[in-house]
Amino acid sequence: MAHLRFEALKQLNSRPRVHVDLPAPKVSDFFAENVFTMEQMRAALAPAVFKKVSQAILNHEKIDLATADAVAAAAKSWAMAKGATHFTHWFQPLTGGTAEKHDSFFDALSGIEKFKGSELVQQEPDASSFPSGGIRSTFEARGYTAWDPTSPMFLYGKTLCIPTVFVSYTGETLDAKGPLLKALKAVDKAATRVCQLFDKDIQHVHASLGPEQEYFVVDEALFNARPDLVMAGRTVFGHAPARGQQMEDHYFASIPSRVYDFMKDFEIECWKLGIPVRTRHNEVAPSQFEVAPLFEEVNVANDHNQLMMDVMWRVAGKHKLKVLFHEKPFAGLNGTGKHNNWSLITDTGVNLFAPTSSARDNLMFLTFFVNTIKAVHEYADLLRASIATPGNDFRLGANEAPPAIMSVFIGSQMSSVLDELEKKGNVKIEKGDNMYMKLGIDQIPEIILDNTDRNRTSPFAFTGNKFEFRAVGGSDNCAVAMTALNLIVAEQLTQFYESVEKEIEKGTEKRLAIVNILRKYIKESRPIRFEGDGYSEEWVKEAEKRGLKNIKNMPEALAAYLEPKSVKIFERHGVLTHKELEARNEIRLEAYIKRVQIESRVIGDLAMNHIVPTAIAYQNKLIANANGLKDLGIDAKAVIQTIKEISAHIETIKNGVRQMIEERKRINKISDTHKRALAYCQDVKEKYFDTIRDAVDKLELLVDDEDWPLVKYRELLFLR
Ligand code: ADP
Ligand code: MG
Repeated sequence: MAHLRFEALKQLNSRPRVHVDLPAPKVSDFFAENVFTMEQMRAALAPAVFKKVSQAILNHEKIDLATADAVAAAAKSWAMAKGATHFTHWFQPLTGGTAEKHDSFFDALSGIEKFKGSELVQQEPDASSFPSGGIRSTFEARGYTAWDPTSPMFLYGKTLCIPTVFVSYTGETLDAKGPLLKALKAVDKAATRVCQLFDKDIQHVHASLGPEQEYFVVDEALFNARPDLVMAGRTVFGHAPARGQQMEDHYFASIPSRVYDFMKDFEIECWKLGIPVRTRHNEVAPSQFEVAPLFEEVNVANDHNQLMMDVMWRVAGKHKLKVLFHEKPFAGLNGTGKHNNWSLITDTGVNLFAPTSSARDNLMFLTFFVNTIKAVHEYADLLRASIATPGNDFRLGANEAPPAIMSVFIGSQMSSVLDELEKKGNVKIEKGDNMYMKLGIDQIPEIILDNTDRNRTSPFAFTGNKFEFRAVGGSDNCAVAMTALNLIVAEQLTQFYESVEKEIEKGTEKRLAIVNILRKYIKESRPIRFEGDGYSEEWVKEAEKRGLKNIKNMPEALAAYLEPKSVKIFERHGVLTHKELEARNEIRLEAYIKRVQIESRVIGDLAMNHIVPTAIAYQNKLIANANGLKDLGIDAKAVIQTIKEISAHIETIKNGVRQMIEERKRINKISDTHKRALAYCQDVKEKYFDTIRDAVDKLELLVDDEDWPLVKYRELLFLR
């Protein structure tokens, strides 16, 4: 086995660089060249038809078949002119990732290429192999995909890809995008109503998302020589390298040349697809990097993120690299997150989270700002559930990652604004008073994006003109977190609007009604605000005192989806039904169980078939050595000590693996999915993974480097 490691290392040292050139002098020459954009559509369609399409998109409405026929014809011509042969409905099933089934434009019966509106609007993939959490057994066996006209079609390879939602035949959603679209519609409706308290011109509010994607890059040969990376996407063993991230030198260092080539290459592919990638840099851990796009409307931004991950994975192959999106590929190092920068923007172009110099606008800003904090406070558990993934269990609360406790950081300036407003609860406002001045709202500073007032340890932070939800996992589909966030804000804004209306009915002046309700919210949501070090042990204690939950694993976190409080808002805003929520939890728990099972097997196999035999073989060498020393009359104490240590570690590993397998057998008999998932978490993962790992990692330090079968951290992590 050790030969595989050395073979891989040899390959690593002889990798040629892959040179990458821009396909044209400027990015703007080829940006979005593979996207069927609104402009393309406008040029190809009759004005009346185009108007219908754009209105439908704006108002989240259905597009009729005649219009769809026209769009399909235009899309087909555009795609075929660029060499496309196939089309596919591109969707995001609950397995994570994306799925597609390609159909040829060519119709053998008529001998020509065809693409009808009905094929654009709807398709029936064979849904039987996608997870449905029991929905399909109770309802209907088939599902279909339906066109999402709010996200543009694009050409990927030779295939025209049509973003779609995936629904069961009886209408239950089976994907990540469907509920997201509904939550976005809900927040549009609720936020627009609130905006109209201030500005009647506002007709729509859309949520925007800029997901910062972190990732690790490792050499392909080294990756393939680590069965755990191949099978589980993370290393289950591996001693920390002598130099980890304690120097924090990787963050500022220049990007290794092979990775730089890879970045340039995937960025070009992203640009062609209209994905507005912008920022690239090293992250804190060795071999860790980040790519950030310019923000876009949430649904499009999320499609782009999903597509970008696929592009990165494919392009990496060309460079003999592998990209890791797993939340915690390496123990003891920074994990991998996907910071979801989020804001609400009106159709008049106002970012509702950007403070301004106008007092009137600032009351609107404060309204959205305070309502968001209040929403997080009210629905912290739901937000926590929305970021629960098997990988995030390893990341949250570990090195350089937000804790599993939800809290909001707003910075010192905004904190004092809110404190001030809360304190002035008794200020009497008379007719003719300048209310804004009396309350200090006219003094909200135009907050400059100030990097010094940044708290990187908060899971949910206000960063000047947007909120940054940092707890989202690196491999996750942002749609899940974005559905929850936009839903809870929609609900909160609805509550707010209703309260304001009631106050107004009682005769309270509108602005005063708004301010009074905000004051109440500020007071009520105070416990969720935290400005200190989120990584510290003190915060864990303090949070407990405040009654904030610290839910450490996915099975427990998911339970929040089925709390009556959550179900109520999912149903009230038409995002998901109770049944769909149950089905989704079932699917996610099943997936969790499978992941822990796989990891447990990988740990068992690697430990018993690779590590233990290696340790025994090395021990035998030591035994021969000890005997030789004895024959010569030399003291063999030190060698004997090592032999004993190795024995002890082997013992720990063997016992651990044996008991872990017994536990799996027992747990597999538990029929309740939630209980089974929890047992896998607590009685398999938490009980055995670290114990076994600890013994293996100790052996790594004892056994001769020449014999060690697994590629070591220092070899994986220091790419040139
Ligand atoms: P940093 O957080 O490192 O300071 P930036 O301020 O450049 O970086 O933003 C990080 C991400 O946030 C980018 O993807 C950016 O497009 C996005 N972003 C900026 N403004 C908004 C906004 N109003 N809504 C959503 N995302 C935003
Ligand atoms: Mg950021």
